[in-house]
Amino acid sequence: MRDFFQHALDPNIHLRRRLFQLLSTIALTEFIIVTLYTAILNTSPVGVAVMLFGTFLFAMTVSLTFKSGRMRLGATISGLLYFSIYPLTFFSSGGIYGGGPPVAAFALIYVFLVTQNWERIASLALCVLVDGCCWLAAYLHPELLTKRTVAMEHAESFLAVLLVTLLICTLFAFVAEVYAEENRIVQRQKKQIEDLNRAQKRFFSSMSHEIRTPVNAIIGFNESTLRENISEEVRENAQNIEVASKLLLHTINEILDMSRLETGGMEIVCADYRTTAMLSDIVSMVWLRAQEKGLEFVIRVDPAMPASLHGDEVRIKQVLLNVVSNAVKYTREGSVTLAISGRYDEQGVFYAVYDVTDTGIGIREEDIPQLFSAFQRVDEQSTHAIEGTGLGLSIVKQLLDLMGGSVTVTSEYGKGSNFHIEIPQQVVDPTPVGEVNLRRTPRDETACRENAFAAPKLNILAVDDTPMNLKVLAKLLKDTGVSLDTAMSGAEALQRTAEKRYDLILMDHQMPEMDGIECMHRIRKQENGLNRDSRIVCLTANVGKDMERLYMQEGFDGYLEKPIRGKVLEDEIMRLAPDLN
Ligand code: ADP
Repeated sequence: MRDFFQHALDPNIHLRRRLFQLLSTIALTEFIIVTLYTAILNTSPVGVAVMLFGTFLFAMTVSLTFKSGRMRLGATISGLLYFSIYPLTFFSSGGIYGGGPPVAAFALIYVFLVTQNWERIASLALCVLVDGCCWLAAYLHPELLTKRTVAMEHAESFLAVLLVTLLICTLFAFVAEVYAEENRIVQRQKKQIEDLNRAQKRFFSSMSHEIRTPVNAIIGFNESTLRENISEEVRENAQNIEVASKLLLHTINEILDMSRLETGGMEIVCADYRTTAMLSDIVSMVWLRAQEKGLEFVIRVDPAMPASLHGDEVRIKQVLLNVVSNAVKYTREGSVTLAISGRYDEQGVFYAVYDVTDTGIGIREEDIPQLFSAFQRVDEQSTHAIEGTGLGLSIVKQLLDLMGGSVTVTSEYGKGSNFHIEIPQQVVDPTPVGEVNLRRTPRDETACRENAFAAPKLNILAVDDTPMNLKVLAKLLKDTGVSLDTAMSGAEALQRTAEKRYDLILMDHQMPEMDGIECMHRIRKQENGLNRDSRIVCLTANVGKDMERLYMQEGFDGYLEKPIRGKVLEDEIMRLAPDLN
C-alpha cells in the first residue's frame, strides 16, 4: 500500500500514468465491491460470473498496461472494458432507481481522465451511446430490470455515497499532493539556481583573479622591455605582446561583467562628472585605433550640452567605448561619427543622447533583434575574421537597462549603422559646454615611455605572495630610483614595518594566512609602529567598483588594479607622495 502511494505521488513518474494508476485502483475497488454485492444480494449466478470475469479482465488490462508502458492503448482498452460491463450493473441494480447512475458517472469520469486525443472523443461518444441505450431499454422494457428489494435500495444508495466520496476525496487529495510536490520541486530548484549563481560568481571572480596574476607579469615585464634600448624587431614583438595581452584582459573583463550582470552583482555608482572630460577620455581611447585603420573619426558635441552631469561615468564610458570600438572594428573605410547632445522629456528629466554612426559593413534587418543577445555574433560570414566574443552589446544593453537608458539600432546592410543611445542623467551644472575641441591625442597607451619622476629618497614596501608580481614592480620602478623592499607574506610585512619607516606600502589582498586587509589593520595598530600613518595602497587582482569601495572603507589610501601599468603606478605614487625628493 505504501509503495502504491509512493508510486502514485512520485514526481518522476508522468502525471498521466499516476492518475491512471489512482483511478484504476478506485475502479478496481468498485469492481470488487460490486462483485461482492452481486454475489450477496443478487440471485443471478450469471451476473456474478460476468462480474468476476470483468473484474479479472480489468485488473489484467491495468497490470499489462503498467508492465508494457503502453499507456495510451491500455487506458483506452480499460476505459471501454469498464463501460462494457456497465449494462449488467445497470440492469441488475434496478436501472435508474438503483446504483447504476453513479457508476455510469464514475465510468464517464474515468474514461475522460485516462484517455487522450481522439481516443478520448471516440470512447466518450461510445460510452454516452451505451448509457443512452441502457436508459432507453429500461424505459421501453422495464420488465428487463431486476426487481429491487428494500435491502438492495439501502445497500446501493450506501455504496453510491461511498463511491462518490471516495472518488472526489481521492482526486482532491491527489491534486493537493501533486501541487505540494510541484511546490517542493520549485523551491528545491530555486535553491539550486541560487547556489549555482553563487558558485558561478565565485568561479568567475576567482578565475579573473587567477588569470590577472600571470597577465600582470606578462604586461609588466613587457612594459619594462619596451622601456629598454632594444632593437626594432624586439620592440615589434613586445608591442604585439602588449596588444595581445590587452585583448586578453578585455575579454576577461567582459566575461566578469557578464557574470556580474547575470548574477545581479553589478551596481550603478553615480557621481558628478564633467561632460567634456568624460568624452575626451573616450576620444583618446578610440582615436588611435580609428587612425590606424585610416578612418575619419568625427566628434560632434552640441554646444548646449550641460558642463557637468551626475551619473555612473565609468559605466557610461564602458557603453560608449563598446559601441564606438565596434563602429571602428566593423568599418573598413570611411568614417565613424560620435555625436553628443541632450534633451529634456515632458517630466523635465534630462537625457544625454549619443549617436554613433559608421560607414561600415552594416547589419541585416533580421539580425538586429539578436544583436544584444549574449554570446551571439551576427553575420558570421562577414565578421568571422574580426576578433570578438559577442558579449559586448549584451553588456551594453544590460548596463543601459540598469541605468534606465535605451539603445536603438538602424542600419543599411553594406552601407553602415547607427546606434542611438539615451541615458537619463541629473544636470549638476547647466552651463553650456560651448564649442568643444576634444584633444585627439591618444592616451599614453603604448608602454614605450620614460618614467615620470625620479625619487631616490622614497621608501616603498611591496607585499605580495607571488614573487613574479614583486619582480614586475621592481622592473617598473627601476628607473625612478625609489628604494623598494619586498615582503612575501603578511607576517614578513609586519616584521619589515616594525624595523623601517616606509612612505608607501603596496599591499596585495589575497595572501595565505594573513590577507592584505588584516595586514594593513595590523600595521596601523602596530605597537611602537613606524608605519602607523604610512600610506597603504591595495594593489590587487580583485577588480571592480564594489571591491574598490570595500578596500577604501577598510581604510586603504588607494586602490590599484592588476595588471598594473607603469603610468598608473607612477601617478598613484605621485598622488600619495607629492614631495618625492
Ligand atoms: P563582438 O565581440 O563580436 O563585437 P558585440 O556584442 O559587440 O560582440 O557585437 C555583436 C555583433 O554585432 C558583432 O559580432 C557584429 O556582427 C555586430 N555588430 C556590432 N556593431 C556593429 C557595427 N557597428 N557594424 C556592423 N556590425 C556590428
